[in-house]
Amino acid sequence: MRKYIAVAMTFTLFFLAFLPSGSVTHAAGGYGWGFKKNDDHEIPDVGQYKEILDKYGAYYADHSGEKVVYLTFDNGYEEGYTDDILDVLKEHDVPAAFFLTGHYVKSEPELVERMADEGHIIGNHSYHHPDLTIVKKEKMKEELESLENAVAEVSDQEEIKYLRPPRGMFSEKTLKWARELGYTHIFWSSAFVDWETSEQKGWRYAYENIMDNIHPGAIILLHTVSSDNAKALDKMITEMRKQGYQFKSLDHLVMKNKLPRPIYGY
Ligand SMILES: [Zn+2]
Repeated sequence: MRKYIAVAMTFTLFFLAFLPSGSVTHAAGGYGWGFKKNDDHEIPDVGQYKEILDKYGAYYADHSGEKVVYLTFDNGYEEGYTDDILDVLKEHDVPAAFFLTGHYVKSEPELVERMADEGHIIGNHSYHHPDLTIVKKEKMKEELESLENAVAEVSDQEEIKYLRPPRGMFSEKTLKWARELGYTHIFWSSAFVDWETSEQKGWRYAYENIMDNIHPGAIILLHTVSSDNAKALDKMITEMRKQGYQFKSLDHLVMKNKLPRPIYGY
């Protein structure tokens, strides 16, 4: 019996570690983003994915060693917490990126406008949230452009540079196409199962999941539909700052990689 539990535990941990797939997603030649979490406060090992991402200029963390973190949110639909999240970010003067779907932009234009007005980056999560690894390039282009147009209609952000692929699905083909379309893929190095709105577990759960794995250079993925996240955010930011972390925008990450180091000044 004990052995059975151990096996079950290992199995569960395996799935939790390989977020967010929860299922094996290699079907049509695509990969589901995932990594092995560690408790050492280091960037998680992503195995073979690192090489593929590097080849196409995609990111999942900042490897510079700087004690920085990047907050990113995925917004597929609204549950009423994004205003609170924006309030906390404003209060602490923390930049973030919000990856939006078409449904989100159409139903929450005022929140989208607020994100842009308050200096956050709006990223592309595609219009209809399809698995991009199984669509044609033309369809992918359409998914990205229709979202850009929707965002431009309701906010001052004209250009979108960052893509978070729906469901974390990617392939060499989608990484290449995104680049050709002017996009940089942004994956993540920290996340947990936070999107089940009927299974929220209290702010402490969100707080511990993030703080237990915090590491220099983390790109943190949070879903705005989580009431736990909304309640934990203020405490997370306070504690990370106490630990010496700085919050930066994705532009900081991407720009410093493009500039020669002496010019950048660090
Ligand atoms: Zn999504």
